[in-house]
Amino acid sequence: MTNLLNFNQQQLTDYFVSIGEKPFRAKQVFRWMHYNGTLELDAMTDIAKVLREKLRQETTFTLPEVRLEQVSDDGTRKWLIGADNQKDGTNSSVETVFIPEADRGTLCVSSQVGCALECTFCSTGRQGFNRNLTVSEIIGQLWIANQSLRQEEGYNMLPNSDRIISNVVMMGMGEPLANYDNVVTAMQIMMDDHAYGLSRRRVTLSTSGLVPQMDRLKEDCPVALAVSLHAPNDKLRDEIVPINQKYPIKELMAACQRYLVKAPRDFVTFEYVMLDGVNDTAEHARQLLDIVRDVPCKFNLIPFNPFPNSGYDTSKPQQIRIFRDILMQAGYVVTVRKTRGEDIDAACGQLAGKVLDKTKRSAKFIPIEGL
Ligand code: SAH
Ligand code: SF4
Repeated sequence: MTNLLNFNQQQLTDYFVSIGEKPFRAKQVFRWMHYNGTLELDAMTDIAKVLREKLRQETTFTLPEVRLEQVSDDGTRKWLIGADNQKDGTNSSVETVFIPEADRGTLCVSSQVGCALECTFCSTGRQGFNRNLTVSEIIGQLWIANQSLRQEEGYNMLPNSDRIISNVVMMGMGEPLANYDNVVTAMQIMMDDHAYGLSRRRVTLSTSGLVPQMDRLKEDCPVALAVSLHAPNDKLRDEIVPINQKYPIKELMAACQRYLVKAPRDFVTFEYVMLDGVNDTAEHARQLLDIVRDVPCKFNLIPFNPFPNSGYDTSKPQQIRIFRDILMQAGYVVTVRKTRGEDIDAACGQLAGKVLDKTKRSAKFIPIEGL
């Protein structure tokens, strides 16, 4: 059986043609699935009965399973989404978070079960990596959140008339550029006018800095870009964002400059997690100004969100203010991210889901008795 939720519009068209159907049928089914949120063949009233029957035999509309939905006191919502691994038989899950604000509703979407990149301050990274999410599991998070919010809020409108979810950020669990093809296909569906119709300025991908994939993305699907910088020199970044050993700061900055040629916005957002006593001094702020000199950018300072046994503390508010002021005095736009949904563990870096590490990589951290 072919899961039709794995296809963007072009791929669905190719599939329809391959089973001897007209291309415009694909567009109709695509709209039913994503624009209308209808996954019942019998409700697709403009599709001939014969074709519906054929689709019933050969295809499915399989969404990931919602295992839990939680609502925070501040209105933030979190869904725990099943992402088991059929191959190794492990039960895993990922998380999706909706953050309502006065002027927008942002959905934070996961791209992988766990993450292989091992940033030291990230609970997802600590859990290791299990597998990539499929296209249907990525776009399924938007489908599920959209439907759930529409029911909840009593909205019954089409996505384009009044969007509850106006922005998507690929900032949940996983490194989106390490699951390149599936993430790009899912983002194409998000931006398709016959699906969710989000403009490419309203879809933001956050990466820890996979330079070759950043270069591909600017050609294939140039959405807004956020880069997880977190340290102002290679020595410290090598330690807390280990992918820096492969793509050091200078190369990363050059990739940001190249990206901006095609980007929908004329700046890159640098994310910077504030870790007490690690990367948050005035000297760090000055070094930071130096390394980003040639890249038009904004800064997003993220107070570290603690998780058990992290070994880090959140920077003191006074220290964050000093750091922010140094950047602002140099003329940069700086936001300090408000923590949302803390009571349901929905804040950045706290998304844990449930990951069974297939790589067994964490075994290397087990201390050996007697050594
Ligand atoms: N893998 C991608 C996107 C997911 S993480 C990336 O690293 O960019 C989204 C953001 O949350 C990143 O900037 C990440 O570094 C940050 N983050 C991770 N752990 C955090 C924590 N414990 N507290 C605050 N931010 C954290
Ligand atoms: Fe992976 Fe991003 Fe976490 Fe680093 S911060 S471990 S890249 S999810």
